[in-house]
Amino acid sequence: MVGGGVVGAAAALALGRAGLRTALLEQSQPPPFDPQGETDLRVFAVNRASQRLFERLDVWPEMLVRGVSPYEAMEVWDARSPGRIRFEAADVGEPDLGHIIENRVIQSTLWDALDEAGVECLCPATLAHLEILPDAAHADLEDGRRVTASLVVGADGARSRVRTLVGIGVNSTRYGQRAVVANVTTERHNEATAWQRFLPTGPLAFLPLADGRSSIVWSTDTEDAERLVGLGEDAFRAELAAAFEYRLGAVTATGPRASFPLAGSQALQYVRSRVALVGDAAHTVHPLAGQGANLGFADVTALVRAIGERPGDPGALRGLRAYERVRRGENWVMMRAMEGFSALFGSRLSPVEMARGLGLNLVDRLPPVKHGFLRRALGDLKG
Ligand SMILES: Cc1cc2nc3c(=O)[nH]c(=O)nc-3n(C[C@H](O)[C@H](O)[C@H](O)COP(=O)(O)OP(=O)(O)OC[C@H]3O[C@@H](n4cnc5c(N)ncnc54)[C@H](O)[C@@H]3O)c2cc1C
Repeated sequence: MVGGGVVGAAAALALGRAGLRTALLEQSQPPPFDPQGETDLRVFAVNRASQRLFERLDVWPEMLVRGVSPYEAMEVWDARSPGRIRFEAADVGEPDLGHIIENRVIQSTLWDALDEAGVECLCPATLAHLEILPDAAHADLEDGRRVTASLVVGADGARSRVRTLVGIGVNSTRYGQRAVVANVTTERHNEATAWQRFLPTGPLAFLPLADGRSSIVWSTDTEDAERLVGLGEDAFRAELAAAFEYRLGAVTATGPRASFPLAGSQALQYVRSRVALVGDAAHTVHPLAGQGANLGFADVTALVRAIGERPGDPGALRGLRAYERVRRGENWVMMRAMEGFSALFGSRLSPVEMARGLGLNLVDRLPPVKHGFLRRALGDLKG
């Protein structure tokens, strides 16, 4: 396994638990979990399917101890039309719609379970070269060590070296936007609700943290994002609260701010003989539906299943192709849906605006359609 981010660590643990001899190569050791530590700027809206994976890997109870924030409702509205939609967990008989979890909670919990699952961690270890032979793959590290395996899994993020080294191309869409992230305190509690307002420049999301604060993801044009990150504290708070229509009152405090470029990408293949790509190495999507890491965890489930169904040689192309068939189409649909959604809400054309307002209100009043959306967002609910 090359890369020990949340997806690579989950994949290494799943393969280790499945009885495969697994080594994890990671270039930088994640810090040990500190309960008093600062809340991560990167938080994930973890859906039910990802939660089930963590339960199967027996790490969910420890994640609950380290801190997760269940959210019971999701509300989306539009700045330039009367469109509004609200989803409630109770409508589909669920206790919650998912959990907001910090990157450091997921990553540290998975890492802490690796040893007991027999996964060997080589860290720090940076992959430099790959030699792919018909019956084995050799991974050469920058420090001169060599690891030989029947399968190399590239979980090394959006700029995957594994992908480049085996010559897999990538289809990318640059949105010309960045996402500004920060953890903020508002006058009122977050109501255990994930909020999203579509502004002409892009979506602004407030994700509920367990302590009543919110983690914001504000997608906007690159120049505007740079301006927002550079604003003085008071000016930023005022602009943020206004952009969010004071839904939770004034913004009374904000932590450090950062911004990330937004890009959608899809590797042209997910597999080669003896090589598989998972997570951001295989695909990235617009963060507007908070699906990026969830798609990576779904890759992990599908890869481990495909390998398990064909015991013997985990790097054999037949099994890997089964994984690719299951995941590539699904991820492509999500990527296109996010692009369509982003274009629809980013459009300044008035007929599009009307459709947008009508669409949200219509879906809000059609329970079967609304519940269908909800089940899909949750990941794997029956019915
Ligand atoms: C603003 C923003 C908000 C987001 N919000 C959400 C959300 O709400 N929900 C959600 O599901 N997703 C969200 N995402 C997406 C999510 O962050 C990613 O999909 C997820 O982190 C991908 O995990 P990964 O393990 O595949 O890759 P990464 O987290 O990038 O990990 C890759 C790892 O590989 C290591 N590595 C790289 N190269 C090498 C090498 N040569 N040798 C050894 N190691 C190497 C790196 O050190 C790193 O640890 C968001 C993304 C952004 C930008």
